[in-house]
Amino acid sequence: MQQDILVTRSSMPDFEEYADEIRGLWDSRWLTNNGAIHKKLEAALKEYLGVENLELVVNGHLALELSIQALELTGEIITTPFTFVSTTHSIVRQGLTPVFCDIDPADCTMDVTKIESLITEKTSAILPVHVYGNLCNLEAIQEIADRHGLKVIYDAAHTFGEKYDGQGIGSFGDVSCFSFHATKVFHTIEGGAICFKDSALKAKFHALKDFGFTGSDEVIGEGTNAKMNEFAAAMGLCNLRHVDGEIAKRKKVVERYRENLKGIPGLRLCGGSIPKRGFSENRGPAPEILPNYAYFPVFFDPEEFGADRDTVWQTLAEHRIFARKYFYPVTSAFACYRDRFDPSLTPEALRASERVLTLPLYADLDLKDVDRIAEIVRGCGKV
Ligand SMILES: *Cc1c(COP(=O)(O)O)cnc(C)c1O
Repeated sequence: MQQDILVTRSSMPDFEEYADEIRGLWDSRWLTNNGAIHKKLEAALKEYLGVENLELVVNGHLALELSIQALELTGEIITTPFTFVSTTHSIVRQGLTPVFCDIDPADCTMDVTKIESLITEKTSAILPVHVYGNLCNLEAIQEIADRHGLKVIYDAAHTFGEKYDGQGIGSFGDVSCFSFHATKVFHTIEGGAICFKDSALKAKFHALKDFGFTGSDEVIGEGTNAKMNEFAAAMGLCNLRHVDGEIAKRKKVVERYRENLKGIPGLRLCGGSIPKRGFSENRGPAPEILPNYAYFPVFFDPEEFGADRDTVWQTLAEHRIFARKYFYPVTSAFACYRDRFDPSLTPEALRASERVLTLPLYADLDLKDVDRIAEIVRGCGKV
């Protein structure tokens, strides 16, 4: 009997390695609130991610919300509907209005040629997503932000460890937010990090994630509780030791998928960042990008391929292989938003959401299973 294959499977250290990391907690009894393991992980991540300022938090979603709060944004934020619903919720829950920009279908990141026409006097920021780990056009987005005095917050939940011309991806924008959820390339069970340019924000983030406390008697803002606990930080320290090896294994899986699925009419792969350098064509050599192989999305053109995405999804499920429709629907079409936003205003995002299927991908996925999954996918088509 074959085991179910889910879209992802969390990386975990050996039990003993984790046990060693948490053993001291039975003596110290310091389980959360900026403990020793938390401090160690924060330092290690700054180094690994190549960022100056980093604040650990309890999840990627609150990283986004706290960023909007700390930057004191108001009015409208230009963002993408082709993402996990958290991105959109973070804006709405902070009392702001998301304005949806369409995507470039080639890599599903924000189409930078469509941003400026969405800017109004209420716009305070741009919140793009490095979706699937595909890097946004960093230079074009910064140019637009500078021209109009806007802040930039990147949802970098998919982008752990990626580099652009040797520079850690978390160092771009005013703020970059990572998620360390169990399903991500690097995880702390639940967790996240806020990376930011202005070191003056450190005290603010530190306070806001702890109810706004700056000392025992002082509260500087309506903060929340977003502190990472020691057990989560310990999982992070262990996983960080192995993450390069895990990414190397993911790379092998991705290469095997690409080999198996190339050249099929109507099946388009979207397997990585497209090097983009601002708006101009002649800005020197393409940037060098270090990827992390976070996801493996494929797009089906129903006519050309001979089957639609839902058919492929269903066929895989019948073989106990559970791919996911990441991202379907676009966030603007969810029940809580469909009366307020019009998904047809972002036609490329809408089309991508109807065609995409994200295939199982994790470090320990057996290459024989990759072959089997690819075979089933090919079998759904007409050639
Ligand atoms: C996972 C994810 C989040 C939310 O992160 P959590 O750690 O689960 O709160 C936000 N945005 C994107 C794009 C994500 O994939």
